[in-house]
Amino acid sequence: MQLMHKEGWIEVICGGMFSGKSEELIRRIRRAKIAKQEVQAFKPAIDDRYHAESIASHNGLMAEAKAIRDPYEILSAVESTTNVVAIDEVQFFQEEIVEVCQTLADRGLRVICAGLDQDFRGQAFGPTPHLLAIAEYATKLQAICVQCGQPAARTQRLIDGKPAGKDEPIILVGADEQYEARCRHCHEVPQ
Ligand code: ADP
Ligand code: ZN
Repeated sequence: MQLMHKEGWIEVICGGMFSGKSEELIRRIRRAKIAKQEVQAFKPAIDDRYHAESIASHNGLMAEAKAIRDPYEILSAVESTTNVVAIDEVQFFQEEIVEVCQTLADRGLRVICAGLDQDFRGQAFGPTPHLLAIAEYATKLQAICVQCGQPAARTQRLIDGKPAGKDEPIILVGADEQYEARCRHCHEVPQ
């Protein structure tokens, strides 16, 4: 593979839940810092799963990140000395995130986005497909299907232990909600 030598491009890391997207993003951040690059990381403010001001992986790795609501906040927050911009949970941002990534890459920054490519129904998720189309480099990771042990590209949503239907509201008060990695064949979305 011939790699870019001029500064500025977009990388996308995608896949289902537990596929190792955050782990891979944190790895790339760590290696960029070893290479003496200035890194700034961002994530949507709605995702406060583990820590408000950091990216966290399911296996306990962490990296500092600024929680923001509007993609344009990234443009005003990026400092003149920054070489690398990392964005986690990119699927939760509005479509404007695409323009923001393009602007940063055109300016000469390395932009690394990580996010879900499919929602719990197996449909394309938010701006991720668009980012995949415009990226120079794309990495699609797979988890392990908890049912059969095959590679898992999908995320199963469970409500009170049962597969969630396609019209189930995203936020359910008082219900026990869980997500797990499943392959195409074990993934269930009742009509
Ligand atoms: P993502 O950001 O894609 O949700 P993370 O990077 O947070 O993934 O977590 C990946 C880690 O999750 C793996 O290294 C592994 O330790 C753990 N893990 C838990 N369940 C699974 C699974 N079903 N398949 C693969 N990894 C899993
Ligand atoms: Zn399976």
